[in-house]
Amino acid sequence: MEKISFAAQYVITNTSEPIKNGVVSVDVSTGEILEIKQLTNEIPYTEFYNGVLIPGFVNAHCHLELCHLKDKVKNPKSLIDFLLAMFRLDANSYDEKLTLKYDSLMYSSGVSAVGDICNTSDTAGVKEKSKIHYKNFVELIGTTPERCQKDILQFENVKNDYLSFGIDANDISAVPHAPYSVSPELFSVINRLNKGKKEIISIHNQENFNENFLYENHSGEFVEKFPLDLSLIPVTGKTSLKSMKELCEGGYERTLLVHNIYSSKEDLDFAAENFKNPFFVVCPKSNIFLENKIIDVNVLLEKNLTVCIGTDSLSSNDNLSMIEEVKLLSKKFENLKLEDLIKFATLNGAKALGLQSKLGSFEIGKSPGVVLLENVDLHNFRLTDNTLSRRLI
Ligand SMILES: [Zn+2]
Repeated sequence: MEKISFAAQYVITNTSEPIKNGVVSVDVSTGEILEIKQLTNEIPYTEFYNGVLIPGFVNAHCHLELCHLKDKVKNPKSLIDFLLAMFRLDANSYDEKLTLKYDSLMYSSGVSAVGDICNTSDTAGVKEKSKIHYKNFVELIGTTPERCQKDILQFENVKNDYLSFGIDANDISAVPHAPYSVSPELFSVINRLNKGKKEIISIHNQENFNENFLYENHSGEFVEKFPLDLSLIPVTGKTSLKSMKELCEGGYERTLLVHNIYSSKEDLDFAAENFKNPFFVVCPKSNIFLENKIIDVNVLLEKNLTVCIGTDSLSSNDNLSMIEEVKLLSKKFENLKLEDLIKFATLNGAKALGLQSKLGSFEIGKSPGVVLLENVDLHNFRLTDNTLSRRLI
């Protein structure tokens, strides 16, 4: 076995306090962690770095297939404005080369796993060759019964395509798009499609405040601007999150609620009580781009809820860099400690995707990847505008 060791001023393990002058030893061929400790004596074959070592990132929310939509929608006033602009774009201009480029960029900047929303099987070829572990969420959208039938076929087709590329069936599941685009009937269809495999579900949640008005009393911009058949969307008098009965009753092991920009404290309590293991995914740059607002992460932490980080897609972000997301969150919430921010971007995402036995922390036997953060303010243990991330193994 060939062993290599990486040493730096700090190592964030996610299982202990950060280790000063830490060293991580890894099996070169498998990437398995062999040892983590403070550097007291010389270890042969040690590479020394300036900065902080962290386990590989887990991007909990991405749409890899939308890379070709980079810069296509400029300065939207809100999510609704953005979605209406997206409808007008040519959806069939998937770019394999560009997708490959961003998959490689994600890997080299330290991403080890991605929770990826897929409307098609376009990215299957890239994922087949990728070193990143993708959890593929086949996203279904629609309210009418005809659309539900189409969605069932769509899911089967995408799934079969993925399987033909050798993607593991456990890494493919059906997920709903958002409360404003999925009828109770389609929620039930999704639950049926995932029958016997209710490991994980993901949904865009409360990304715009009009989602709540839609369910509370059939009012707001979704009603005014979207071609919705309101007879298929129930008035519940409650917020959109509390209205998704079928999602609550789905019995999923883990539920990824993505964005949560307009989730109230009561909504958060509701999620904590009604979902087995809820994960609250924040996509800082996309949230600012679309709504100029991020959920108050401190409220999530006060309630002991698990925060994850995603990049969302290149249609609402200028790159798919996890460290850029962490930097923005660190600026917006200055009280957050670096080790907590890193946990959101690594271990919590690994738990959300059910990959924590392998990824997310430096523990003997895991193979999370070793990532170097450079240009960190080591004196105050904070990220700077110039902080970069790069994979060492
Ligand atoms: Zn999304």
